[in-house]
Amino acid sequence: MNIDSFQEDIKKCRFCFMCRHLSGVGNVTFREADTPRIRTAMVYGVLLDNSKLANADFIDTVYSSDLSAACRYHCVNHFDENGIMLAARRDIVENGLAPDDVKKLAEKLAAEPAAPKISGSGDILYYVDADTAAVASEAKAFDKIAKKAGVKYRAGRGGNTGKALYVLGYADAAKKAAAEFAEAVNKSGVKTVVVSNPAVYDALVNDFKAWGVKLSAKAVHASEFIASLKLKFSKKPGRLCYLESDFLKNYNGNLKFPRMLLGQLKAESAEGFATDLTSEKTPFMFGTNNEESYTCGEGAVVFAQLRPEIAKKMAKYVEERADKGCLIAVASPYTKAQLGKNTKLKVSTLTEIAADCL
Ligand code: SF4
Repeated sequence: MNIDSFQEDIKKCRFCFMCRHLSGVGNVTFREADTPRIRTAMVYGVLLDNSKLANADFIDTVYSSDLSAACRYHCVNHFDENGIMLAARRDIVENGLAPDDVKKLAEKLAAEPAAPKISGSGDILYYVDADTAAVASEAKAFDKIAKKAGVKYRAGRGGNTGKALYVLGYADAAKKAAAEFAEAVNKSGVKTVVVSNPAVYDALVNDFKAWGVKLSAKAVHASEFIASLKLKFSKKPGRLCYLESDFLKNYNGNLKFPRMLLGQLKAESAEGFATDLTSEKTPFMFGTNNEESYTCGEGAVVFAQLRPEIAKKMAKYVEERADKGCLIAVASPYTKAQLGKNTKLKVSTLTEIAADCL
């Protein structure tokens, strides 16, 4: 079983209450089962008696995890409750126990060609994945910035990196998709791949390496690319609240580029305390602390497709905590889509904000 390699973490987490507040799902369902402690206590039960893997409530809870990795990032010992949930998903799938909705979604993803269609010329590829394509203004904003900077780029559309398949527990199908994706990009000869979706960034930077898939181009998040252009902005975005991305913060050591870009834009924090917009180290403050995830399930990639009602509650949870009338800035097109659909908040991605300030 995949969970066997997490025995120590499981034993530590099952009795620990410390990161209870960092389950984005638990914060809106108020179910004890949706906390890191109880999730891992249930996995411990499976370690002792493997037949419990088939328990329907256990499977439902594992697939309801938002996988923000906030618990791992903020845990003093970095115990990997997130990795335990991903391992449990793989065990469920590999034992033929995947629920119908998960199976259907995975079959759909695996049937799609993984290689993106690449057009245009230049050393830079801007990859528009499904979540980025769903927010049409994102690619337009990127194009406006590239034109202003005089940067020629190719566009890649469609395909997938295998990330969604992996989080659903389909590791082999994920690796196959990743290899096809990388082959297409490598063949194009581009030197840099720019992505707006933090989930794609994490796939290209971390998953591909872990899966032995070689990508010859350097992957950068749009915030890093835009910050590197050192553009002169003619306007300031004013007061805003920035919601940290799960993948950029918790999966990638609190990547500094979103805050660097907000600093270049001279954005002002709407929170008014404990947030230094020019700091590249301090996670952004929203609500009552800088540890919680407010991404509506970004870490679980296809969370809104599997658990739309919970994703809606997570969006409302953000709305209740936001300064009224304040611009909400996000790194992730997925989070923008969820907040846009389920709340009245004014939400823009970092790319859109930068394009608006030119
Ligand atoms: S991740 Fe750390 S803080 Fe969270 S339950 Fe496990 S041991 Fe406790």
